[in-house]
Amino acid sequence: MEELRQENMRLRAENQELRVQIHQLKRMAFEDELTQLFNRRFFKLQFERLSLDRVSLIMLDIDYFKKVNDTWGHLKADHILSLVARIIKEKTRSTDIVARWGGEEFVVLLPGASRRTAFNIGQRILQSIRERTPVTVSMGIATAYNKNLKEEIMDRADRALYVSKKNGRDRITAVSVN
Ligand code: GH3
Ligand code: MG
Ligand code: MG
Repeated sequence: MEELRQENMRLRAENQELRVQIHQLKRMAFEDELTQLFNRRFFKLQFERLSLDRVSLIMLDIDYFKKVNDTWGHLKADHILSLVARIIKEKTRSTDIVARWGGEEFVVLLPGASRRTAFNIGQRILQSIRERTPVTVSMGIATAYNKNLKEEIMDRADRALYVSKKNGRDRITAVSVN
């Protein structure tokens, strides 16, 4: 009897330890270390799983970030990167998925958001970054109104971002995919 009780306790402890390890592994697999946002891998998984008629996507890229590194150094630039990440997180909803796409580029998936809603959220992010950091950002936003068009919004948001850059940066370009 006593042996069984001890074995039970041992298994419970082992189980708890495994839960902690799984949690840590998930963080390592899905979280970006510097910004603590989700990483690209997690974003892609969520994107694949999404099946809604209406969805918006924001792609955001920090303007002239190479110059920030050259002027203030890598450490200060990293700090700005984290601050930008925090602001994006702060201005979005808990149901939105904010991820670091790579380098100084971020993506926000907004399930159910219309073009107008996504644009308003984008504006709030843009404004706050202007006010609270030494950098500006450019954004491309694409909204799909039909789940068959979901796959297109990545490409369309990317192209919209390019237009924002070309037109002078520190701005948003938003398109609907119908
Ligand atoms: P643009 O306005 O056209 O986006 O100009 P840019 O300088 O931001 O664009 P570019 O893609 O030429 O350079 C991006 C730079 O971002 C390159 C690299 O020095 C910097 N960068 C990317 N990832 C990190 C990072 O994790 N930490 C730091 N400190 N810098 C990074
Ligand atoms: Mg870039
Ligand atoms: Mg950039």
